[in-house]
Amino acid sequence: MHIKKQRLLTPGPTPLYPPALHAMMASDIHHRTEDFRKVYLACLAGMKEVMGTANDVLIFSASGTGAMDASVSNLFSKGDKAIVCVAGKFGERWADIAKAYGLDATVITVPYGQVVSPRQVEEALAKEPATKGVFVQASESSTGAAHDLRAMGQAVAKTGAIFVVDAITGLGTMPIDIDGWGIDVLVSGSQKAFMIPPGLAFMAIGPKAWKFADTATLPHYYFNLKKEKKSGDGGESSWTASISLILALGEALKYVQQIGMANLVENAQMLAKATRAAVQAMGLELFAPSSPGAAVTSVRPPAGMDSGVIVKEFRSRFGAVIANGQGSMKGELFRIAHIGYFDFPDLFAMLACLEIILNANGFPVKYGTGVAAAQEVYASAAVKPKSTAAA
Ligand SMILES: *Cc1c(COP(=O)(O)O)cnc(C)c1O
Repeated sequence: MHIKKQRLLTPGPTPLYPPALHAMMASDIHHRTEDFRKVYLACLAGMKEVMGTANDVLIFSASGTGAMDASVSNLFSKGDKAIVCVAGKFGERWADIAKAYGLDATVITVPYGQVVSPRQVEEALAKEPATKGVFVQASESSTGAAHDLRAMGQAVAKTGAIFVVDAITGLGTMPIDIDGWGIDVLVSGSQKAFMIPPGLAFMAIGPKAWKFADTATLPHYYFNLKKEKKSGDGGESSWTASISLILALGEALKYVQQIGMANLVENAQMLAKATRAAVQAMGLELFAPSSPGAAVTSVRPPAGMDSGVIVKEFRSRFGAVIANGQGSMKGELFRIAHIGYFDFPDLFAMLACLEIILNANGFPVKYGTGVAAAQEVYASAAVKPKSTAAA
């Protein structure tokens, strides 16, 4: 029996930033007081800063899907034409939401592991000029693939449609220029790059999308963007705030601002690069080799091995939780996350564990192969050898 520390190594919820957790212990304040308004306004301003946008930012008490739902129910009307890009389970969620609200959606589906190309979006827009919304994931967390938001945004900006992006795992793991790329609505969530527990959803919303809110007729009540904007301007949320999570967010944002959003992104990108090098050195294949994102790396298990074996052994041998494939991808991939509060020691340890698990299950890997490949990536980017003392 060895000590097994519990480690959450999934692409959401992600590892928690300890000072943010500690801040939650001060939750015995009221949400209609000056004390709270100060924190709430700082969170709104901080989110706007790290998102790098001049657009309005809103916060909701919900998991990320709440903000996805709100973007449809507040900005569209029944029968509106929409284009939905589906490259995985989260794209399917956009399609489900659009369907639930009665949008007339053209769904562009690509096989799991691939991405929808900007070209496909352009063609769909040309075919249906009355399109009012284009929906996509920045990073499709179920496969690890990332979309080309810049080119898609440019195509959508030329039309009357709004570009609605689920950046729930994209934000903080890839460069995203909301204003420059014409992203009218961007949604994210607290349990990903923001290093705090689930329960807050974020939305950046621009002028083109706000105009849609004036004419949209779909019913909604709890998620009311205009009301939330008005409440936020006064330092409050429309309904009782998730006080504990707002306190945590305030602390996490200080940390993200201190590191800088660009460096947080760079951190994820470096971890992803090192992971790709490591698993390939071990003889494993990437699930989304042509457009790998930096939020999470999906890896195929060795031929004949169910990825569930790897997931289970991470838990039983090492106390660590890693993610299996979702839906029909279950058993076909496992996911190594890089979002938010992950560092190189986390990755080195994880790769060492993976090598042990592979060896224990009939897939021989020389110990240290993957770890060494990741070390090389780290070293070539971040280690400048000191010259040894002259003899
Ligand atoms: C985590 C995630 C979501 C949000 O799911 P919730 O369970 O509602 O937080 C949506 N889209 C993507 C791409 C995600 O990774």
